[in-house]
Amino acid sequence: MAEPAVVGLLRRLVAHPTISSRPILECAADVAQRCADLGFRVERFVDPRDAQKASVIASIGPEGTDGLVISGHMDVVPVEGQPWTTDPFVLTERDGRLHARGSADMKGFIAATLVALARIAPGEYRRELVLIWTHDEEVGCLGSAALATHLAAIARPLPTDALIGEPTSFQILRMHPGHVAIEVDVHGKAAHSSRPDLGINAIEGIAKVVRAVEQVAAELAREPADLPELPRPIVAVNVAEITGGTAINIVPDHARVRVGYRPLPGQDPHAVFERIRARVADLALPGGFDARVLRVTPAMLTPRHTPLEHCLAEHAHTHEVGAASFATDGGNLAKLGMRPLVFGPGDIDVAHKADEFVPTAELVRAVDIVEQVVRRHCCGQ
Ligand SMILES: [Zn+2]
Repeated sequence: MAEPAVVGLLRRLVAHPTISSRPILECAADVAQRCADLGFRVERFVDPRDAQKASVIASIGPEGTDGLVISGHMDVVPVEGQPWTTDPFVLTERDGRLHARGSADMKGFIAATLVALARIAPGEYRRELVLIWTHDEEVGCLGSAALATHLAAIARPLPTDALIGEPTSFQILRMHPGHVAIEVDVHGKAAHSSRPDLGINAIEGIAKVVRAVEQVAAELAREPADLPELPRPIVAVNVAEITGGTAINIVPDHARVRVGYRPLPGQDPHAVFERIRARVADLALPGGFDARVLRVTPAMLTPRHTPLEHCLAEHAHTHEVGAASFATDGGNLAKLGMRPLVFGPGDIDVAHKADEFVPTAELVRAVDIVEQVVRRHCCGQ
């Protein structure tokens, strides 16, 4: 039997080793060319902070908000140190599974979408279809954040319904937590270690900060949100990195801690930061402190019963609309007024591991699903 077109295209896409730390321009150019070949208007948006990174925006049909956005990320997670049994950048089919880095997360979905759209003639679109292919999703949704800022600045009207094809084994997910990275610097005063009374020990200060963060985390654990879709509806807090001190015989004059936390869908992402900052201020540290937010990856919360949800429900493997445990570009797209749903082929549980795969049958099915969803959203009366 001849190889399905979607398998051939996936083979081509996974051959671009688009680990988030590396350039993505070749893969973006490949995807952009295919969109142009399908008759789409194609723009490349180069990230202002990194000329080696670009997102692709491709659209077809009359502009408006009643069409559909389909989105995915082109970057993949690293392979170093993982026990792969085959080359992670060469698609290998075995026992009905297509193995490669990115096969499930999420170049399989990109390939399925591009093959599905080849079945629809440009003249059939009555409402706009916008494709958004991003970079640096795996390192904090940085590409979609930059793109969202740009699209908001130019006030580009965009469809409200948005499909993000992360691997969910065809379950519809409408929410996920976000992620916020914060940093606290504690200032001290250096002195010779024989005279600690003349200095201010910043590491002793940072130890108090860590305990304050632990207290806030313990309080948050007792404040579950009313979100039954989430298996663990509390804000997770992680004391992630700590630095400080210069030599064994010097009282340290500086120490820093980085903390990550995951705001729940619908919560103010800055609320936990403000709580931690207030608690640290209460410590009245003798050398003072600074605290700042380094990065916000927004949570996502899409209401039930959007037109896209009804459309996807016909194809979903379960009627339960759930929550993702992982963050997606959907949080940034929602800032543009979109109502994203996460739904796609493959299983997130295999996604970041050795021998990642997407089942061939699911990938082939994804082509049919995307075609039907697009026809219904963008081509019907
Ligand atoms: Zn992903």
